[in-house]
Amino acid sequence: MLPLGGLGEIGKNMTVVEYDGRIIIVDTGLMFPTAEMHGIDLVLPDFGYLRDRKDDIEAIVLTHGHEDHVGALPYVLREIGIPPVIYGGMLTIGMVRSKLDEHKLGDKTPLQELAAGEKVRRGPFELELVHMTHSIPDMRGVLITTELGSMLMTGDYKFDQTPVDGRPADISRLAEIGREDLKGTFHIVTTGRDNIPPEGQVVDTFSYTAKPIYLPPGEKLKWTIHVSAEEN
Ligand SMILES: [Zn+2]
Repeated sequence: MLPLGGLGEIGKNMTVVEYDGRIIIVDTGLMFPTAEMHGIDLVLPDFGYLRDRKDDIEAIVLTHGHEDHVGALPYVLREIGIPPVIYGGMLTIGMVRSKLDEHKLGDKTPLQELAAGEKVRRGPFELELVHMTHSIPDMRGVLITTELGSMLMTGDYKFDQTPVDGRPADISRLAEIGREDLKGTFHIVTTGRDNIPPEGQVVDTFSYTAKPIYLPPGEKLKWTIHVSAEEN
């Protein structure tokens, strides 16, 4: 797993998951420039790693429609090439379609809505989207399974009982994944915090913690990375 952006910073979320020479990309976000970045319009993740790997990419999966998760997509498609498929929830795919139309890439790009709970196989990966809640509807976590085990990338989320789309996170599926995952050997969770106020309330602080946990050789490796962003 290779984060090309978004770890320890707010924005340009983009993660490469690679197994057996094949690649799934989760999110292709941008970062808006800070006040000191004069003359800079957008900050993109450094996706140079993918430059010669176009044919190894099985899919791009988008967790939700915020710019810090999808905004770099037109630039990735132009620089790296068009992947076989791009998955996301219905709203995410709709938002991305109009973005790609603006960039004249809409016709060429295989955007595909993937319903939460539906499993698809791409090369050595099985993919499943899990419904989560965020300040935008159709937020999805991404469960990626290989013969080594599963990893869940939750994206931005929190357990909001009064979410904007009226659909609380699929906690029962998460519990199920947690139980199944005990068989797995590799587990990464990117989590939000569960003690922040409901969406809609303005919060102006950011916080970030990362905590890898290494177990002795031969034992199952388990990482927990906690990332939380409280945005307005
Ligand atoms: Zn977001």
